[in-house]
Amino acid sequence: MRRISVFGATGSIGESTFDLLLRQGGPEAFHTVALTGGRNVARLAEMARALRADLAVTAYEDCLPALREALAGSGVAVAAGPQAIAEAADRPADWVMSAIVGAAGLVPGMRALAHGTTLALANKESLVTAGPLLMATAARHGASIVPVDSEHSAVFQALAGEERSAVERVIITASGGPFRDWNAQQIAAATLAQAVAHPNWSMGQRISIDSASMFNKALELIEAREFFGFEPSQIEVLVHPQSIVHAMVGFCDGGIMAHLGPADMRHAIGYALNWPRRGEVPVQRIDLAKIGSLTFRAPDETLFPALRLSREVMELRGMAGAAFNAAKEVALDHFIAGTIGFCDMAVVVEDTLDRLLHRNCLGNAPTALEDVLETDHLARTEAAASVQARR
Ligand code: NDP
Ligand code: MG
Repeated sequence: MRRISVFGATGSIGESTFDLLLRQGGPEAFHTVALTGGRNVARLAEMARALRADLAVTAYEDCLPALREALAGSGVAVAAGPQAIAEAADRPADWVMSAIVGAAGLVPGMRALAHGTTLALANKESLVTAGPLLMATAARHGASIVPVDSEHSAVFQALAGEERSAVERVIITASGGPFRDWNAQQIAAATLAQAVAHPNWSMGQRISIDSASMFNKALELIEAREFFGFEPSQIEVLVHPQSIVHAMVGFCDGGIMAHLGPADMRHAIGYALNWPRRGEVPVQRIDLAKIGSLTFRAPDETLFPALRLSREVMELRGMAGAAFNAAKEVALDHFIAGTIGFCDMAVVVEDTLDRLLHRNCLGNAPTALEDVLETDHLARTEAAASVQARR
């Protein structure tokens, strides 16, 4: 029986993964080694019972009593805290879903790769903060990474059977989020509720806001560079409001392979779950006659400075990705808390990068996880100072 673990099981990607696992036979078809969640322990316990997991872990110590109570008599072991999550990743599994949100997803993903697993990678922050380390760890231990982010899954699929040297460019698409047709004044006054309301995708709160600010696409540019090894100049973004084409790969003979899929993450998750084969996935089939037209346009980098910052980060490389992501997470926390405005997020991120560049903190490539965690910490401190300075 295939041994599987899901990190971030109670989130949006985690729920879709759970749905697919149940549809593909649940506990009769999979041996669930570990499921992890955060505060939603009731749901985590339900999932652990349904999949008859060996272990359920919450990220928070104060949630442990509730998790223990919810799983009493089930035979599922319980644990809590980041260390327990990392240890859960040490339990051998054949397939591991990395779907914790934010930099907290890095350590369990790295640990799972060190055991030679196939890592279905939704947690894009892992590649943004520690791309070279993650890829080297996978190579060293004969592990595979299958991207789950829809654009990267699309590129991965379009590249199947192709020679990497024949690739001229890669185009990832962006829906443009809820503000794609807004002007600068409207965007400056954007509220949390408006930023969360994504027109095409149903996702977790944080990534939905990142889509509205285009920080999500900014992270994805870096993710594409780190995972596929393309040069920054080879990676383009197009706004495509219909969210049907997720990515295109352009080859040296002028041909372009486009990947089309429904705006339902179960396609990319299902692809990763069944990889290297294809399996039946219960998503809505695309009806192009009904959709009628697919449109594309260049994004406005003045309105969405996250894209420009992302290009700077790709050029800098070294520790810039870790600093960029950490500063973005702090800025996002403050926007959610209402302490800064929507456009302040990009200002805080740029200011943090400037501060760290000025102190020569971004130059060296990470050689160990500790380097990344240190830069993450440093950038969070600087970003907090930058927020403070703006209030
Ligand atoms: P959610 O916010 O919906 O879920 C996040 C998961 O991580 C939950 O299980 C949550 O637990 C858990 N979690 C939160 N904080 C921590 C922490 N500090 N330590 C451990 N676990 C924690 O996120 P999404 O599912 O939307 O996104 C997950 C990842 O996938 C992100 O990296 C995102 O960028 C990426 N992704 C998501 C897409 C989507 O469609 N949603 C598309 C492409 C990529 P709890 O809820 O119980 O507190
Ligand atoms: Mg994406």
